[in-house]
Amino acid sequence: MKEFDYIIIGGGCAGLSLAYELEINEKLKEKTLAIIEPRIEYKKDKTWSFWKVAAHNFDDCVKKSWENFSINIPKKTNHLECINYPYQSVDSGLFYEKINNKLKKNKNVSFFKKISEINSKNSFIFNSVPSIKKEHLNLWQHFSGVEIETQNNFFDDEIFNLMDFDCDQRESVHFFYTLPYSKTKALVETTWLSKMNDGSQKDYDNQIKDYIENHLNLKNYKITYKEEGAIPLFYPSYEVEKNKINIGTAGGMTRLSTGYTFLNIQEHSKYICQNIENISKVKKFNISKKYQFLDDIFLKVLKKHPEKMPDIFFKMFESSPKTVIKFLSNKSNFLEDLSIIFKMPKWIFIKALFY
Ligand SMILES: Cc1cc2nc3c(=O)[nH]c(=O)nc-3n(C[C@H](O)[C@H](O)[C@H](O)COP(=O)(O)OP(=O)(O)OC[C@H]3O[C@@H](n4cnc5c(N)ncnc54)[C@H](O)[C@@H]3O)c2cc1C
Repeated sequence: MKEFDYIIIGGGCAGLSLAYELEINEKLKEKTLAIIEPRIEYKKDKTWSFWKVAAHNFDDCVKKSWENFSINIPKKTNHLECINYPYQSVDSGLFYEKINNKLKKNKNVSFFKKISEINSKNSFIFNSVPSIKKEHLNLWQHFSGVEIETQNNFFDDEIFNLMDFDCDQRESVHFFYTLPYSKTKALVETTWLSKMNDGSQKDYDNQIKDYIENHLNLKNYKITYKEEGAIPLFYPSYEVEKNKINIGTAGGMTRLSTGYTFLNIQEHSKYICQNIENISKVKKFNISKKYQFLDDIFLKVLKKHPEKMPDIFFKMFESSPKTVIKFLSNKSNFLEDLSIIFKMPKWIFIKALFY
């Protein structure tokens, strides 16, 4: 059976981002790479959005970028600017196409459906398939979104809506998220932060229909695309293994308070690429311990007081948007952290330290 220098398990966002980073930095000229990916064909299956706080390789896959956003709770709306860190939406279809077109030109890169098709004994492995145990106490960000099209101009495509909490909370945390790609096209998503033990939250289609028709007051539209997912708001468990690094969701690249993962994956890929010659000896790349600690407290409050979260998120965005964006994207300094912490209800958060 064939042997390879490197193996990437899972050719999704993290696996392909890493392969691309290695390829464009000419690390696969003398080395061989096998990508293990069971999917039969690549097509758009996700939209990855984030504030662009760092450079990445996929500006040409950005479907739309915004410099304004809003957040609302019942009877209150806050309009905010993000000129310094525009919010970008990457189309996964364009992302897969760009990377696969590049990789297929390199004879040192091969795709396989199963790892059993190759000899992996002497390879260095990058694994993006998480081992996730469904435990009843764990929190998830679970959601469903549709892209819709209208015949007449309907949306203001200069501004996106990050969180609309003016909806049924069902003793959890629930919001809608709307990304207007143009005046006639938008992604509308229903999102829950919960333990996923209330099946009623999964009537996503009804929630979205009701929101579009009775909240946005849009009656004539057609659905052109649908996506659904659940992001674990806890770190997958793994055993430390020699010659293996976990990447992507499996590698703890999700910011637990927000679910944002895409840009962390890009930074992790750059880190691996810079250290590839010495990869078995370098320090593990992590989201900083500071954010792990703060997110842990935040999620404890969320579990205990879901009813307070709309106000907490709304208040957080009363700080300067630049500060909040940096905080949510792991780029804030100590003073910026403090300014966010001071916006939080103090007693609830202090008590959460001792749960
Ligand atoms: C619908 C959706 C929308 C999201 N939106 C955002 C967003 O807007 N912003 C953001 O920052 N994050 C977002 N995320 C979170 C995160 O960025 C994505 O989940 C991202 O795809 C994670 O990359 P990954 O490589 O870890 O996992 P994936 O992209 O899921 O890749 C894993 C790959 O492993 C393959 N695989 C599965 N089983 C095996 C196996 N046994 N052997 C080999 N391969 C296998 C899968 O086919 C897949 O291609 C979203 C997640 C989802 C599910």
